Amino acid sequence: MYFFLVNLHHKLFQNSGTDKMAKIPHILLIYTGGTIGMVKDYKTGALKIFNFDKLLKHIPELNQLNCTIHSISLEEPIDSSNMNPDNWVFIAEIIEKNYEKFDGFVILHGSDTMSYTASAISFMFENLSKPVIFTGSQLPIGDLRTDAKENLITSIEIAAAQENGEPIVSEVCLYFEYKLYRANRTTKINAEHFEAFTSPNFPPLGESGVHLKFYKQLIYKPKEIKPFKVRKRLDNNIVILKIFPGITEKVVGSILGIEGLKGVILETFGSGNAPTDKWFVNLLKETINKGVHIINVTQCIGGNVIMGQYETSIELKKVGIINGGDITTESALAKLMYLLGENIPKNEFKSIFETQLRGEISAFE
Ligand code: ASP
Repeated sequence: MYFFLVNLHHKLFQNSGTDKMAKIPHILLIYTGGTIGMVKDYKTGALKIFNFDKLLKHIPELNQLNCTIHSISLEEPIDSSNMNPDNWVFIAEIIEKNYEKFDGFVILHGSDTMSYTASAISFMFENLSKPVIFTGSQLPIGDLRTDAKENLITSIEIAAAQENGEPIVSEVCLYFEYKLYRANRTTKINAEHFEAFTSPNFPPLGESGVHLKFYKQLIYKPKEIKPFKVRKRLDNNIVILKIFPGITEKVVGSILGIEGLKGVILETFGSGNAPTDKWFVNLLKETINKGVHIINVTQCIGGNVIMGQYETSIELKKVGIINGGDITTESALAKLMYLLGENIPKNEFKSIFETQLRGEISAFE
């Protein structure tokens, strides 16, 4: 599948007042697909993608925002289950090409894999100094009880929010159901509730209620504006291995033995614990000796990996497993693909992975 862009509306909305117009923020809205732009097929009952034009017709309130909104859509919007690293690069390139022309970016994306895409984009963007806000919805825009309108309107407001001519937000975020999160801290936790996302190990950066509040002390502020760079090499020769009670040597051996494998996200129990069986530890050791990077990430929704806290993680530490700390699986996956793509020397990989690059991990004590 390949993406084409459709330039839907050139200067869709613009408030009047010449003096104001020179200064009002310019926002680029990028529609990639997902429920937010879907309708029900009345024959089959299944949700299918509809024309983005209709999405905007449903929200005339956008006219009231004090910004201009240009919008583009993928010619064939996709369900986010079909997103892959090539699509992430494509989205990143849209922003790269339009970076100087716009003050903020809103990406409409299916919620299912939004945390993966948004995490990946956060690593790909170096020296970002403008807001990039991902959002979507649980109910289609045309639905009577839809959450799409609020999510979209507030995301645009956030992308346009400025103080003394500077954007309030200058990082990749995810806005959903009244909360603004650092994107690479999020995870989708509910397939039904409007509150579909959470950020288990980092507080929200903002909240929308009667007022739109920003928690500025938590929002990343670049010290100086450096040239914006997009890192596009992502290496997906990786695997997520979720351990479970009863996991066999055959299963672990065949996964770790995959030809060309370069990295493993090992989803462990609690604070980073795993079986102490000799075969298990030996397989990990052999894999690391072959040059494959293994990251210890907890299966728990919240909390931290602390290798060495229990006997069941001492061996993992000894064999040289990388400590994922409080990173989410989505973010660990994106960081691994990004760092592998950057061809980091083997002896530096562990310490770089354990370092905070985009606010995705809390500092180790
Ligand atoms: N399946 C949809 C998607 O992720 C769900 C959504 O948009 O919320 O594209």
